[in-house]
Amino acid sequence: MSSPHPDIEKILIPTDQIGARVGALGREISKDYQGKVVTLIGVLKGSIVFLSDLLRAITVDCSIDLMCLSSYEGDRSSGVVRMVLDLRESIEGKDVLVVEDIVDTGLTLAYLRDNLKTRKPRSLEICTLLDKTECRQIPLQAKYVGFKVPNQFLVGYGLDYNEQYRNLPYVGVLKEERLNGPRV
Ligand code: 5GP
Repeated sequence: MSSPHPDIEKILIPTDQIGARVGALGREISKDYQGKVVTLIGVLKGSIVFLSDLLRAITVDCSIDLMCLSSYEGDRSSGVVRMVLDLRESIEGKDVLVVEDIVDTGLTLAYLRDNLKTRKPRSLEICTLLDKTECRQIPLQAKYVGFKVPNQFLVGYGLDYNEQYRNLPYVGVLKEERLNGPRV
């Protein structure tokens, strides 16, 4: 295996572990949605790598749509969620599965869940690759969770810091000196 990027403190989840877990999530989702068509909603931009791998691990019929939400500035949540890009298709009567990279405070997904519920999907569930359960400010439980992770700033496998590091094939902890100022 090649050495990690110089800005990475340590690799938290190596590539092979991600692959195995995404495969298992795909099998679980395929079992739960047997006989249905699942509409996957990817939350841009962080979920793109996870979404593309998960999509290929799902064996039931599915379609995808994308939304772009923004609440983070650098390494911290601004606390205000903005919708930057909305869905193209209606989700009324559909079985919707939101695919997210990471749940932290829960504010982003709570906003999204409440917004999507008003569009009357038949069902609405959440799948997140990473879950920082200890950081929750608002009750939110994803049905499908890849990995529970500690409260550290993570990058790679789609997750960025100021738009960098999304291409790393693993999830890693960013070196403290790369972050602007102390974490809150
Ligand atoms: P929440 O609204 O749950 O606090 O935050 C969700 C969003 O914050 C995620 O979609 C992601 O964009 C960003 N986020 C939270 N924790 C991290 C992290 O450790 N690393 C990165 N790169 N983004 C994070």
